[in-house]
Amino acid sequence: MSNLKLIYVIIDGMGDLPIKELEDKTPLEYAETPNMDFLASKGKLGLMYTVERGVAPESHVAAISILGYDPHEYYIRRGPIEAYGAGLEMADGDLALRCNFATLGPNGVIIDRRAGRNLTTEEAFELARTINETVKLESHPAEFAFKSTVGYRGVLVMRSKSIPLSDRISVMDPVYSSVSGLEVAKPSASMVLRECVPLEDSESARVSAALINEFISKSHRVLEEHEVNKRREAEGKLKANVIIVRGAGNTLPKLYNICGKYGVSFACLADMPVERGVAKLAGMHLIELPPPSKDLTADCFIRAKKILENLESFDCFYIHLKGPDEPGHDGNCLLKAKIIEIIDEHFFGRILSKIDLKDIVICATADHSTPCSLRAHSDDPVPVLISGGRIRSDGMKKFSEKDCKRGSLGIIERGTMLMPLLMEALKRGDV
Ligand code: ZN
Ligand code: ZN
Repeated sequence: MSNLKLIYVIIDGMGDLPIKELEDKTPLEYAETPNMDFLASKGKLGLMYTVERGVAPESHVAAISILGYDPHEYYIRRGPIEAYGAGLEMADGDLALRCNFATLGPNGVIIDRRAGRNLTTEEAFELARTINETVKLESHPAEFAFKSTVGYRGVLVMRSKSIPLSDRISVMDPVYSSVSGLEVAKPSASMVLRECVPLEDSESARVSAALINEFISKSHRVLEEHEVNKRREAEGKLKANVIIVRGAGNTLPKLYNICGKYGVSFACLADMPVERGVAKLAGMHLIELPPPSKDLTADCFIRAKKILENLESFDCFYIHLKGPDEPGHDGNCLLKAKIIEIIDEHFFGRILSKIDLKDIVICATADHSTPCSLRAHSDDPVPVLISGGRIRSDGMKKFSEKDCKRGSLGIIERGTMLMPLLMEALKRGDV
């Protein structure tokens, strides 16, 4: 093994399609990114299907794939992975769900799936504490742990005292539906809170559905009257008065240890619990980080600083930056380009100013495309750059989807093919 280090950076939802408003460029192409362009000019480019052609992946499925695990071979449900990443205990037979604080209006209508998207992490923490202290489950002997994570997001784990709980229950979140066991977003969903129903005739599924319905209705009563929501209402904000759940799962995927497989040490710096969960399951060391704030410049600075501080202690760094996905979902292409510029300047710029590129292999890519025109994840391939070490330039000058299409890495057909490529770059200094 050489003494090279790997810095592997996933920029969430960065991939996109050409947009008229941006002179027919993608946000990445339109953005001024001198640091990533420098890396592109020194290295090699390509395009990658992060799972495979035809799949528009959710982040956690893509994360597993681009770390080299075939997502078809594992039980991958968002709830357990995210709960585990958030630090909740999760045993086989526990039912784990991803949660959103949302706003429920009259007649069961969901006014906002994210409670106006301005719930602070502190407000959510207060709400979660009251739920844990006051809600008691009585439809079946069971207990639960609910944890708020970042902003309006949270996780829930339920445990029966007598039987294993089941994931064979319907999806309650109105914009998701279940397609052969995997949840997919439905574009034009009617925004009514659905009841959770068992999808098979078993005690385990019936009990699981009943417990979820009980938790939702009891927590709704607590949230409706909560001081935090009274304050929000007085400030003209939407109440965070209901919890909606999705991603139900009753076991964790059993991933092999990535450090053992490749004979290297890995550290993870990820913004969100779901990516932290994947990294922890893969056997990586998690570097503690403050959750993403409103100040992306400061967040990038902290993340770059943490890598530099830990550079001697690990061989490989897996970094997941949340940035451009959200403006992609909002269709805000200028903001998406701006966020990519901030990441370029304050993350890559900072790293490049402190390292010697011949000692380090840097890979930058995305977990999926979130085209502004679609406002959703798509199956479009994402740009990939691999640079540093003794890697020779393939003559491209700019990090963009267009240049990546002409790059010498070609089209990487599956996300699982990237990790072996990076390990080869680490070993030989070249790809
Ligand atoms: Zn993502
Ligand atoms: Zn997304």
